[in-house]
Amino acid sequence: DHGLSEADPEVRAIIDKEKQRQFRHLELIASENFTSRAVMEAVGSHLTNKYSEGLPGKRYYGGNEYIDELEILCQQRALAAFHLDGKKWGVNVQPLSGSPANFEVYTAILNPHDRIMGLDLPHGGHLSHGFMTSKRRVSGTSIYFESMPYRLDESSGATSLLRCIGLVKDECVDMFVADSKFALLSHTGLVDYDMLEKTANLFRPKLIIAGASAYPRDFDYPRMRKIADAVGAFLMMDMAHISGLVAASVVADPFEYCDIVTTTTHKGLGDVARQTDSVGKEKKVFCWEPTGNSTSLRGPRGGMIFFKKDPVLGVDLESAINNAVFPGLQGGPHNHTIGGLTVCLKHAQSPEFKTYQNEVVSNCRALASRLIELGYKLVSGGSDNHLVLVDLRPLGLDGARVEKILEMASITLNKNSVPGDKSALVPGGIRIGTPAMTTRGFTEKDFISTADFIHEGVQIAREAKQSVSGSKLQEFMKFVASPDFSLMDRVSD
Ligand code: PLP
Repeated sequence: DHGLSEADPEVRAIIDKEKQRQFRHLELIASENFTSRAVMEAVGSHLTNKYSEGLPGKRYYGGNEYIDELEILCQQRALAAFHLDGKKWGVNVQPLSGSPANFEVYTAILNPHDRIMGLDLPHGGHLSHGFMTSKRRVSGTSIYFESMPYRLDESSGATSLLRCIGLVKDECVDMFVADSKFALLSHTGLVDYDMLEKTANLFRPKLIIAGASAYPRDFDYPRMRKIADAVGAFLMMDMAHISGLVAASVVADPFEYCDIVTTTTHKGLGDVARQTDSVGKEKKVFCWEPTGNSTSLRGPRGGMIFFKKDPVLGVDLESAINNAVFPGLQGGPHNHTIGGLTVCLKHAQSPEFKTYQNEVVSNCRALASRLIELGYKLVSGGSDNHLVLVDLRPLGLDGARVEKILEMASITLNKNSVPGDKSALVPGGIRIGTPAMTTRGFTEKDFISTADFIHEGVQIAREAKQSVSGSKLQEFMKFVASPDFSLMDRVSD
C-alpha cells in the first residue's frame, strides 16, 4: 500500500499548494480556523472505514464496540464543554455539517409548510435559516417550510428618537428605510426585536431561530424566549459562529433560554497552541506543529445538535431529533469526523481555551477600533464577538472589488452584504474574523497592523476604481512579498 505522494502525486501537489496558501495568507474568514495535528490524525484514521448506522448500543451493523466507545466519549465531552447537565440535555454528534444539522432539527419538530422565522441572509443570517428572495425560494428550508425572516433595525438614531416621541409613524420610518440613501447614513444594525415581536404575533411561527453568519453582536435570548413563548414557538440557537465563545463563557449562554442549540464544529472551537522553548520562554506555535502539551482544540468539519431532554411543546426532542438524523436524513455517521471532534472537545474547559477565546474577542475589538479610527463605518458600530462587518458603500466601493484586491495581497476575507444593500449580487461590505489568525498567535498589535494593511488595499481599490494608476497596487504587492511583511514570519517561528 502506497502513501499519497507515491499513489497520487497530482493530489499530493494540490494539497501541498493549499497548505502553503494557508500558511502564507492572512486568513480572516470569520468561519474558518486551523485544526491541530491531533485532530487531523484522527480524521485521517481507520475510523473512516467503519459503518455504524444507529446510536451507541443500537447499531445496524456488527463490529461497533470501539465506535460506540468513541461516540459515547464524544457526547460526554460535548456536554461537558458547554457546561451541560446530562440529565437535562442530550446531544447528537452525527450531523455531517451545520446545514444538515439545522435541516434535521426542522424535520424533527415541524411538519412540511410549518412557519419559521430566522434572521434574513442579507442582514447576517444563514441560508439554512430560510432564505428566499421575492422571486425564488433559495434554501431548502424555504422550499419545504414557510419562512418569514426577521431583520436588523436600519433606522437611524434620529428616526428612532422621533418614533419614540411619536413624531413619525412606523410607515414613515419604513419609507425612510426604503430609501437606501437614508439607510446609508446610519443605522443601529441590531436585530429589530420590536419588529420580530410584531411580525411573530401576526405570522405565528412554530420555530424562531437565533444565530447568524455575519452579526457582530450577541443575541437577546431572554427577549427571543418571551416572543417565542407568546406565540407557542420553539426557540433554537444556531451558534455555529460563536460556539467557542459560548464554551468559554465569553458571550451570553444560549442554553439558558433555548430548547435546541445547533453548531458546526470547524469554526470557533479553536485554541492557540503554546509551547515552552529551551530557555523556558513561552512561545506561540503554528497550529500544524506538534505541541509539547495538548492544549489545542480545533475541530474537524461537522455538526452537533443539543436538545432539552424534557418534552417541549409536547414533543420528545431526544427521539424526534435522533430519528431525524438517522434514518431521517443521514446514513452512516462519519466516524473519523467524530474522532476528530472528540479530540477537539477534550480541552474546551482548559484555562488555555478560555484565554484563546478571550483573545479572539479582544483582538476583534482592537481591529474594530483601528478600522473606526481609519474612518470606516462598521455595521452596529463595533463588535462583541469574533467578527466585524465593514460597510464600504460610503466610500463608493463594493465588497467584491476589495475582496479581490486583498486576495492578490495574500489577505483572505469575504465580501458580505450589509443592511440596505440594493442587490445581493453586489454586496456592499466585507466580513473580517479574528479566530484563525488568533490561533496562529496574532495579538491586538498584529490586528491593528492587519487593519492598516486592509486600509491600504481599500485605498488601492478606490484608486483602481477611479482608474488613477495600477502602480500603487504593484508596490503594495511587492511589499507583501518582501521580508518587511513580517507578521507571517513571526508567527511561524
Ligand atoms: N449556520 C451558520 C450560522 C453558519 O454560518 C454556517 C456556515 O457558515 C452554517 C450554519 C452551515 O454550516 P456548513 O457549511 O457546515 O453546512
